[in-house]
Amino acid sequence: MRKLKKDEQNKSALSVQKGIVAPENINNNSIQNFKLKRKTQKSAEEYFNGIIQGDINILSQAITLVESTLQKHIDLSQDIINKCLLYSGKSIRIGFTGVPGVGKSSIIETLGIHLINKGKKIAVLAIDPSSQNSGGSILGDKTRMEELSVSENAFIRPSPAAGSLGGVTRKTAETIILCEAAGFDIIFIETVGVGQSEIAVHSMTDFFLLLMLAGAGDELQGIKRGIMEMADAVVITKADGDNITKAKAATTEYKNALHLFPANKSGWTPVVTTVSAYTSDGINELWGIIENYEKVTKENGYFELKRKKQLKYRMFETIDNELKRRFYQNPEISSKLTELESSVEAGIISPYFAAKTIMEEK
Ligand code: GDP
Repeated sequence: MRKLKKDEQNKSALSVQKGIVAPENINNNSIQNFKLKRKTQKSAEEYFNGIIQGDINILSQAITLVESTLQKHIDLSQDIINKCLLYSGKSIRIGFTGVPGVGKSSIIETLGIHLINKGKKIAVLAIDPSSQNSGGSILGDKTRMEELSVSENAFIRPSPAAGSLGGVTRKTAETIILCEAAGFDIIFIETVGVGQSEIAVHSMTDFFLLLMLAGAGDELQGIKRGIMEMADAVVITKADGDNITKAKAATTEYKNALHLFPANKSGWTPVVTTVSAYTSDGINELWGIIENYEKVTKENGYFELKRKKQLKYRMFETIDNELKRRFYQNPEISSKLTELESSVEAGIISPYFAAKTIMEEK
């Protein structure tokens, strides 16, 4: 496909103006939705062949199918994913979390460029269940990751704008498979440090990074103990200029805090480190930490074990969601539920009895 020239993009109605909802895909793919509709659809085989040849446009179109709510798109995307599975799994998947403003996109940009210079191919994905309301609050801004977004060896895809976290999680997990089959050997997944989305990212990554600001306090940063416990590394960001001393002090603090957690099943002791995305100080060391993790956990078998657990978790999660969906969408159940709700509210029957009654409904 011919790429749009810069002045053509600006003229296009699909180009992004300041203050308008962000594009669906930074890498020039906001036009994919339109193209998918206009073109005769390819077969699963054609998508698969394009993907394994590293064709970014076909990859983007396949991701659009994964994100679609149309059943025929979902079915086609499942065929493509099944074909791609054998070609996937060879990357390292790295999760990034931290409050807005902590420096996630800056670190992803600096680390990403560092790795591209080492000959790697990077895909950057996001999980943001709130993106439906905000029009894609993370990775949706074209000005972020400026250098990475124009690199041939980077593929950046904002969070799918779906309502439920479960939906966004499935789409991102499936997008990982497609990106890996397309030859991306490092997958970054970004999420904002609020709510349940960290758990979702943790459930699909090999290495989980928690980004923290020095001197801002845990509560201020909305970081719960559970999130700290999931981290394979805590990274104190913006360690440059006047901030260096504060960042070093924060390192000691977090090292002490992490000591209080029980030993990890991975055989890996979480590391605390400082990084500046501006000066690149600490970037090489951070990558060294991730490589070391990969080495240690591949040797002790935890890497594979974790991935297998994640796959099983995903299967049961999908079954759970599907059971719930079928149950609540059943018209008889829903009318019976309305009756039971009123009886529970009126105090005629107990919530427990009501639940038992509906579960026994044939
Ligand atoms: P995100 O919301 O977590 O993705 O954070 P951003 O990467 O957008 O960064 C938030 C702000 O912090 C921006 O104004 C950046 O310019 C600034 N920032 C990011 N990284 C650094 C850094 O390494 N040093 C300094 N001094 N500022 C940084």
